[in-house]
Amino acid sequence: MTPAAYAVLKLDALQHNLQIVRNHAPHSKIMAVIKGNGYGHGLLRIAEALQNVDAFAVARVDEGIRLRKAGLKNRIVVLEGFTSNRELDALLIYQLDALVHSVTQLDIFANRTERAQIAVWLKLDTGMNRLGFRANDFNTAYQRLNECTIIKRPISLMTHLASADDKQDTMTLKQIRLFNETLQSIPGERSIANSAGILGWKEALADWVRPGIMLYGISPFPGNAGEQLGLKPIMALHSRLIAVKPITKGDTVGYSCSWVCEKSTILGVVAIGYGDGYPRHAKVGTPVLVNGKRVPLIGRVSMDMITVDLQTQPNAKPGDPVTLWGEGLAVEEVAEWAETIPYTLVCGITQRVRQIDSSWLK
Ligand SMILES: *Cc1c(COP(=O)(O)O)cnc(C)c1O
Repeated sequence: MTPAAYAVLKLDALQHNLQIVRNHAPHSKIMAVIKGNGYGHGLLRIAEALQNVDAFAVARVDEGIRLRKAGLKNRIVVLEGFTSNRELDALLIYQLDALVHSVTQLDIFANRTERAQIAVWLKLDTGMNRLGFRANDFNTAYQRLNECTIIKRPISLMTHLASADDKQDTMTLKQIRLFNETLQSIPGERSIANSAGILGWKEALADWVRPGIMLYGISPFPGNAGEQLGLKPIMALHSRLIAVKPITKGDTVGYSCSWVCEKSTILGVVAIGYGDGYPRHAKVGTPVLVNGKRVPLIGRVSMDMITVDLQTQPNAKPGDPVTLWGEGLAVEEVAEWAETIPYTLVCGITQRVRQIDSSWLK
């Protein structure tokens, strides 16, 4: 028996999506981004299915340690680097690459006397204004880093794009130009592109690309589903109807009585809610598949349940299957109804949702 709320993961499709990355960036090495618990799909599950990539990228040191403890041998890049000697020690012990983006990190490195212990990626901030050295400070940072004995050479170089998902925005080319100009005389491998960069900007392809969301079959571009880009979604989120009842004009449904019935219909209650990661802000009308057919969400999303209008499915009964996103209903579409991005939906799946490998269901 499947649990009330569960996610089915089509891990086979990861290799298909990886091939789409390769088709767009045939000359680049691939750093698969699996931070955020593999975008909600399970850190180790995704890493194990993608061991043929050149490197993994995670955000935090502890994510890298989990991968090493599970026996993964790939190069692993920690995108947020470290902030203390203790974290640096962990990077050394587990042989994780560090992003270098702050003077604090240079100070820590300068006090260490080990030889050639850690591979580093020096980050240039080309306008994202999150991590990285500004162009004016970059040469000084590079010189200081280059004097440290603890680092392996050559130093690799990275920047991150702020609006590559908007193909009209001139920001992306400005960022790429600044990156190329600032690093003109500096040796070392380069990396610029996230998924939107890989799919939308040839200029962003460099020695390394860093696909995240596209590996999970999801489009980085608003208004555009992954399937239109040739990607196959990995995750489908399912549950089932647990109650069905008639309601009549004037009845209200759910918290705050915010939804008022205007015409008699049949109400369905589905065992899924924000406690599972279904977005609380999904609007009335958000599509939900009951027995594979679309019905609209009504009322507010609560912690464990949502309610749907079964007008078009008078024979639906408790136990019938429900899909919140998956085949026939793209997570990108649900994200729009919830005024968010699909990244937050897949990342937000909670512990309670059982994750099932689709090959177990065959
Ligand atoms: C998350 C992240 C990526 C991947 O971004 P997607 O949009 O998911 O492809 C790449 N690089 C950095 C630095 C990131 O933080």
